[in-house]
Amino acid sequence: MTPGLRPADFKISERSTALTALQEELEGIPCTTEPQQLSKLSIDWHTFSPVLSEKLAGKRADIVYFPTSEAEVIRIIQACVRHRIPLTPRGAGTGNYGQAVPLEGGVVLDITRMQSILWTKGGIMRVQPGVKLMAMEKEARKTGWEVRMAPSTFRTATVGGFVSGGFGGIGSITYGVLRERGNILGLQVVTMEAEPQILELRGEAVHQVSHAWGVNGIITEMEMPLGMAYPWAECIVVFDDFMQSARFCQRLGESDGIVKRMISLHAWPIPSYFVALKPYLPEGSHAALLLIAENSLEPLADLVKEWGGQITYTKPAAVCVGGTTSSTGKGITLMEYGYNHTTLHARTADPSLTYIDCLFPADPDLKAMEYLYRTLAEEMMIHIEYLRLNGKVTALGGQLVRYTSEARLREIMQIHRDQGVHVHDCHDFTLDSLQKKDASNRNQQLELKKRTDPLGLLNPGKLKAWMEWQAQQTGSPSM
Ligand SMILES: Cc1cc2nc3c(=O)[nH]c(=O)nc-3n(C[C@H](O)[C@H](O)[C@H](O)COP(=O)(O)OP(=O)(O)OC[C@H]3O[C@@H](n4cnc5c(N)ncnc54)[C@H](O)[C@@H]3O)c2cc1C
Repeated sequence: MTPGLRPADFKISERSTALTALQEELEGIPCTTEPQQLSKLSIDWHTFSPVLSEKLAGKRADIVYFPTSEAEVIRIIQACVRHRIPLTPRGAGTGNYGQAVPLEGGVVLDITRMQSILWTKGGIMRVQPGVKLMAMEKEARKTGWEVRMAPSTFRTATVGGFVSGGFGGIGSITYGVLRERGNILGLQVVTMEAEPQILELRGEAVHQVSHAWGVNGIITEMEMPLGMAYPWAECIVVFDDFMQSARFCQRLGESDGIVKRMISLHAWPIPSYFVALKPYLPEGSHAALLLIAENSLEPLADLVKEWGGQITYTKPAAVCVGGTTSSTGKGITLMEYGYNHTTLHARTADPSLTYIDCLFPADPDLKAMEYLYRTLAEEMMIHIEYLRLNGKVTALGGQLVRYTSEARLREIMQIHRDQGVHVHDCHDFTLDSLQKKDASNRNQQLELKKRTDPLGLLNPGKLKAWMEWQAQQTGSPSM
């Protein structure tokens, strides 16, 4: 390809000829060109954002391949490179930033059929990327382990999609987020070249590819550390005063002797959206949804009493589906009310709601949170997930916003920033806007892309830094 030419620069007729040739060469690998399937497999949950819904409308793959092995992934890569066809990897498509939307069409590489658990030993599991988090948990529990962290979409989300597009989740209050050293042990990655290389990244090098949305390589195997399995009980604690509930949750997070897996806090009226939990959520109360190790229930009860809360619901671990934990079976679990499941439940009741993704500063007085709670009460509801970040219990905000316009949404985001809150722009579809990592890591991801995807065919349009670099090379304006 001429340097600087983007896949989109190819004429439609050239693309169509290239796709025909590609299909002939990839005979035997499962695929679909059925229009409804193409549409379904080209979207994700970016629909939480009215801004992204508008910007990403109509983006669709030309063909979706379902490889079952690394060898098939390599064949697909070779054909795409030969014919200059963009390729966007995809797990279960539960990402909510449009990560897996193929902006320039071409091939979507659905990795959900690569779902072998290769081995488990000594608290480490090596898997193919299409394994679902729930399947990993089930397998780990057979030997007394569990996954360290999982998104609230654990039933459907793949571990490959989680590591490439996710951040952290249930378990992050103990283990931190995926980005923390030691939470991903190794990634095997195939490069997007005429002669694809297979790289095994270990140590801190894994973060060149983790949370990179598949722009600099396709993950074909991964080695994940596990955590010791606990019998998790589920509890709901309610409070009359929101700031009191926030202080309680912070204190619970910092109480290292109380073993926990999730602390998810919801200011009223968010609890009113949790229809199935209604009997345990009194009108007007703020609710903390907790996963606590069963042997920590007694000290939890003491702490709740100290802070003036009331436990309205306790589901012992033994009652949870699967006998030990509800994350391996069917039935209602509080895990599907926290993280972005909060947004999902709220939007089911009121589709005009959207959300803001942010990190509160470490502040024992919770000044920023209190200011936002009081100032924006009319148009925003506070939702916090507590997690451990660089060793400190930190409040991750997933505020629900009554959407009126993009301009007002951005003003609200700015009001957060003015209070020292770090906002991740979940209403932009580029990796750069959402980057939860530092700039040096972004540069490492870019440098790797120059080596692993020299034609810029992988998930094109998602990495601004790449587009800017390309523009510098050719002297043309970036997209
Ligand atoms: C209701 C709801 C709740 C959520 N809760 C959480 C949460 O608690 N925590 C959290 O972090 N996220 C959360 N998310 C976002 C999302 O569900 C998770 O990040 C999930 O792990 C993504 O997995 P997936 O298989 O659906 O990946 P996809 O959405 O299919 O893909 C995610 C990204 O990874 C890339 N990718 C996929 N497979 C590969 C591969 N093999 N190699 C290279 N790149 C690849 C894709 O191109 C895409 O950019 C939530 C989303 C929703 C809708």
